[in-house]
Amino acid sequence: MNYDWIVVGAGFTGAAFAERLASIGKKVLLLDRRPHIGGNAFDEYNESGILVHRYGPHIFHTNSDVVWNYLSKFTDWRPYEHRVLGLIEGKLVPIPFNLDSLAALFPAPVAARIESVLAAEYGIGKKIPILKLQQSSNEEIRAFADYVYRNVFEGYTIKQWQLRPQELSPSVTARVPVSISRDDRYFQDTYQAIPLDGYTAMFRRMIGNPNLDLALGSDWKTPNGAPVLFTGAIDELLNYRFGPLPYRSLRFEEKTLNVRRHQPVGTVNYPNNHDYTRTTEQTIITGQQADVTTLITEYPQPHIPGETIAYYPIPRDDNQALYAKYAAAASTEFPNVVLAGRLADYQYYNMDQACARGLKLAAELGGASWPAL
Ligand code: FAD
Ligand code: UDP
Repeated sequence: MNYDWIVVGAGFTGAAFAERLASIGKKVLLLDRRPHIGGNAFDEYNESGILVHRYGPHIFHTNSDVVWNYLSKFTDWRPYEHRVLGLIEGKLVPIPFNLDSLAALFPAPVAARIESVLAAEYGIGKKIPILKLQQSSNEEIRAFADYVYRNVFEGYTIKQWQLRPQELSPSVTARVPVSISRDDRYFQDTYQAIPLDGYTAMFRRMIGNPNLDLALGSDWKTPNGAPVLFTGAIDELLNYRFGPLPYRSLRFEEKTLNVRRHQPVGTVNYPNNHDYTRTTEQTIITGQQADVTTLITEYPQPHIPGETIAYYPIPRDDNQALYAKYAAAASTEFPNVVLAGRLADYQYYNMDQACARGLKLAAELGGASWPAL
């Protein structure tokens, strides 16, 4: 079979790209080395009948009408606003750290004083990244920021990345800014929901076009004619010739309990004193009603190529420079291969950004329509 495009990786980036091209009559081969579709968003029922996200809990959120409308062609949704509590000084307080977290951890007059200083300086409703808050010219704000830094960010970030917050791109900790409000939602995006019958079911509908052939358990190595969209790791593509590009990995521990509900909210974070970072209750996220519930605990670990899964690119200038070397070599040696996705772009994409990347490339390179409907 002669294909117009070969797409390597059946995650959000690859599946959206493949679907768009197949929809305009292009012949597409979508392959993945894993035995399933969905990339890291893959979900399946465990032996207790609970739908679990195999590569860590995934909560969909986006401000993009295009991405939302596009995915809604393939799934109905269950509205879900994620909430997180962090265990700090023995208390469970809202994360992102907000005015209620402040009130829970400080004596009332002190909390009231800090709240009024923050409100005067930034305004109620504002969100300030911790590294910025620490640079305030106001001494009281700096003292408060140092407290939040030590209790919320420092330990968690060292566990997750083996780096201090200042050693990473500021965009990493800015994902969870201090919130001068009582809004305790983890995300503020316009659309927040979980595919009603799961991510895998949504992907199955995305790739159902007869112009699209699927090859699972297929390890792709080198280009052989047809243009390729590659969504795997760029350092692996080039045999690690400039040395491995740093990633972080995780180990997931799954525990099923004989209770209907265990946690007060979807995720509990453990910034300090544990070797895991967070525990998520799958049934809270999916809304599944059952007599048992499943918890997933995340243990960060180093990434060893060939042994562990590269989950997170590590956003730092030196890594970006190494990525640029790989990207330049790839474009010279493999002019027929387009790189895209969380691993191939070496970007800390959320699911909606990965999907948007696939849609945009399909419009630019393959002539598919944009907006993609
Ligand atoms: P991937 O999903 O990684 O897909 C790439 C695919 O390519 C893989 O299936 C891989 O097997 C395949 N592949 C690679 N190389 C080859 C090869 N040589 N041959 C064949 N196949 C190959 N985002 C959110 O929006 N909300 C969340 O709550 C959220 N939680 C997350 C939690 C964790 C623990 C992690 C790690 C990520 C989370 N994300 C979340 C991010 C989300 O997983 C990604 O944005 C998204 O999966 C990226 O899609 P992708 O297609 O770029 O890559
Ligand atoms: N973070 C933290 N403490 C928390 C939550 C987040 O220090 O309680 C930092 C940490 O560095 C983390 C980053 O903020 O890696 C981004 O958090 P997010 O929840 O967005 O991470 P993800 O869900 O992508 O793993």
